[in-house]
Amino acid sequence: VKWVYTFGNGKAEGRASDVELLGGKGANLAEMASLGLPVPPGLTITTEACAWFNRHQRSFPDALRAQVGEALRGIEEATGRGFGDPRHPLLLSVRSGARASMPGMMDTVLNLGLNDETVQALGHDAGDARFAWDSYRRFIQMYGAVVMGLDHEVFEEILEDEKARLGHEYDTELSAVEWQHVTRLYKEMVADELGEPFPQDPGIQLWKAIAAVFQSWMNPRAVTYRMLHNIPADWGTAVNVQAMVFGNMGNNSATGVAFTRNPSTGEKELYGEFLVNAQGEDVVAGIRTPQSITEASRLASGSEKPSLEKLMPEAFADFRTICDRLEAHYRDMQDLEFTIERGKLWMLQTRSGKRTAKAAMKIAVDMVEEGLITRAEAVSRIDPASLDQLLHPTIDPRVERQVIGSGLPASPGAATGEIVFTSEDAVAAEAEGRKVILVRMETSPEDIHGMHAAEGILTTRGGMTSHAAVVARGMGIPCVTGAGSMRVDFHNGLLIGLGVKLKRGDVITIDGSSGQVLKGEVPMLQPELSGDFGLIMEWADAARRMTVRTNADTPQDARAARSFGAEGIGLCRTEHMFFEGDRIHVMRDMILAETEAGRRAALDKLLPMQRSDFTELFSIMHGQPVTIRLLDPPLHEFLPKSDTEIAEVAAAMGMEAQSLRERVDALHEFNPMLGHRGCRLAISHPEIVEMQARAIFEAAVAAARQTGELVSPEIMVPLVGLRAELDYVKGRIDAIARAVMDEAGMEIDYLVGTMIELPRAALRAHSIAEAAEFFSFGTNDLTQTTFGISRDDASNFINTYIRKGIIDHDPFISLDFDGVGELIRIAAQRGRLTRPEMKLGICGEHGGDPTSIHFCESIGLDYVSCSPFRVPIARLAAAQAAI
Ligand code: ADP
Ligand code: MG
Ligand code: MG
Repeated sequence: VKWVYTFGNGKAEGRASDVELLGGKGANLAEMASLGLPVPPGLTITTEACAWFNRHQRSFPDALRAQVGEALRGIEEATGRGFGDPRHPLLLSVRSGARASMPGMMDTVLNLGLNDETVQALGHDAGDARFAWDSYRRFIQMYGAVVMGLDHEVFEEILEDEKARLGHEYDTELSAVEWQHVTRLYKEMVADELGEPFPQDPGIQLWKAIAAVFQSWMNPRAVTYRMLHNIPADWGTAVNVQAMVFGNMGNNSATGVAFTRNPSTGEKELYGEFLVNAQGEDVVAGIRTPQSITEASRLASGSEKPSLEKLMPEAFADFRTICDRLEAHYRDMQDLEFTIERGKLWMLQTRSGKRTAKAAMKIAVDMVEEGLITRAEAVSRIDPASLDQLLHPTIDPRVERQVIGSGLPASPGAATGEIVFTSEDAVAAEAEGRKVILVRMETSPEDIHGMHAAEGILTTRGGMTSHAAVVARGMGIPCVTGAGSMRVDFHNGLLIGLGVKLKRGDVITIDGSSGQVLKGEVPMLQPELSGDFGLIMEWADAARRMTVRTNADTPQDARAARSFGAEGIGLCRTEHMFFEGDRIHVMRDMILAETEAGRRAALDKLLPMQRSDFTELFSIMHGQPVTIRLLDPPLHEFLPKSDTEIAEVAAAMGMEAQSLRERVDALHEFNPMLGHRGCRLAISHPEIVEMQARAIFEAAVAAARQTGELVSPEIMVPLVGLRAELDYVKGRIDAIARAVMDEAGMEIDYLVGTMIELPRAALRAHSIAEAAEFFSFGTNDLTQTTFGISRDDASNFINTYIRKGIIDHDPFISLDFDGVGELIRIAAQRGRLTRPEMKLGICGEHGGDPTSIHFCESIGLDYVSCSPFRVPIARLAAAQAAI
């Protein structure tokens, strides 16, 4: 087996398409090397080796050692140095690299190969002892944390104490001797903590580091990250072992990260940050505030510190050329890591850059205009779920802002919430339905749960590429970083800003687009849906086959959905029409009536109210199809529950509390979800259906007269399991339709169909289709009834199931293709056998879930229907499914 692939010196054994085998980092290092870019030579150990390692009690395949040894000799030749060589030592970085990018989740060790002997040689070779000791202390710290499992903090403490003792503010101020002393303290601490000395043998260092990177695949934050991003656990990580280049070799050396376009706005401008005389993750860690790469962005930020463009013009020019080349090569915006060693540029990483939804839109549209990609590619590149971000509100510019601090606009959108200082508090608050802003000095990968739970994130340290910024952009959560004028007093639970001291629980608003932090709640504006967004949507609409409807119960919903591009209503639930205002009293009169006559009298009062509701909906929809579901929930949902409620309602109705209580008890059901609801109600009380049907048809007549547009109602009968149920209800509806049309002297095109939400209905679809003119898959109930899991109780154990690997996702969020999906497939096939032109759609929550939408496309449904805010997501996902 080939476990090792080499790269460097203008050639490589792997390439960009080998992501599965080499991980993203390894595959792209190989690609860059083949392109002839300056990449330090190295080797990649495959993800298969990681899988082997995990299957064999954390041991290595035999051939691996030999293959690594041979590849290492190649690196030695290319660099003219020897690994462990006491005169010209080769130092290595050992870097993780998974198939899917998991920024900051796994571990890297730099400067490996240093020991008490080689550190001297390194200093001698470079003519810079300070640099050598700085590298050695970094190595002990990283190796100590990643391989030996020591806490990062213990090293930080030693360093902070030393700096305080010596009167230094920045790491860069320490001299060679001072670093040498820190190194001694580090080694003593390691020996004290672990009872063994820091390993001096480079070979042992290397293999332990490789094992540690393999194991970091299973560390808790990597596991959590994979869960949140649906990355399978069995993929494993590759390991990249690469010759070191040094950004800490004095003031003509530097290290940095950059994007080929602005990841927040999408502007076509090189964008990035760097630090002089620094190494590795100093930039991301927020230890010193990084400097801008280009002069333009330095000016824009108003920073005094020179840009890379000014400071190292030659290296900058090389870098810009490489950026252009890589972007054209990958035909996508790249996220790059680089190091400059004494004026010479080295490329350390490239990958497709993460970006905000707004930037993704702009970049896709620009790249189509630049002729780099096609419209279909542009549409396919936008993550539908990310549109959520564009639909975020922004702060109304007309209102006065009480600014209490400001930082960097790290992730767009505005958010309001109570201050919390810990991720635990954020998670707890979310569980209680409270909105919070997570306020931290800086975030670390341990915080992802809390970040996920928060409405917004505010940090007082760190730049645009800090952990908080990267993760928030990825999650689509508004974020402000590096609000240096604010202070977190963690100990006393205070956030101190301009003229204010705020406590935990106080409300603030952050504006992730300007970087401002505001006191209290602030009026917001709804987002603008034109420009790049409008173009992408236009291209998506041209590409998709399925129509997108909305689930809308109210005129507001219907209007919002139309503005988002809905092409009809796929589900109008009528129950809310019985709850509003005074209607609930009439509804209760109806339910509590002892006789049919009594019921009809109450229904006569409800009729005009329903008719005006439907008239309004039909008018808003301008002739687009509107599917109305007949009353579905069990009747006791409309009745009071507690004793006090019962007493109040009884008094209002002029009834004895006792007899009301008896009626309520009589309607009690042990399992209402499977009880007297849906078409079962219509069969027991046909007068309810008749009232609703009359309201619908009279409204259709009224709306048609008002607007001059044809109205085509689709009446949907819920919870049908038996063909005869539908026959019975349809009979009533058809009779009323005939009567209303005769009265009005107008013909109306209407359909009667059913929801498929019981397994029996799916199996008997060929027979039910003889009566039903359309099917709409009610996948919420169909998932409940197929799994036999109550949706309202599922949260208690679904997460346990996911954690224990019993299922891999919540079937109420993303359709269970194998089970529920199979029933849908069967019902669609059998229904169309009877009625080939039958309209088929989906109206459960899944209608707005991109992977479920792909499934709907694959089985040929005609439309999906989802909540108004998900309509753009569904339009895009439907297009991607069709492309
Ligand atoms: P991550 O996946 O967390 O970004 P990397 O493997 O990219 O981890 O390493 C982080 C940083 O370490 C890089 O951005 C780079 O600055 C530094 N680094 C890695 N390999 C080398 C190397 N061969 N020479 C110099 N610096 C390196
Ligand atoms: Mg890392
Ligand atoms: Mg990296």
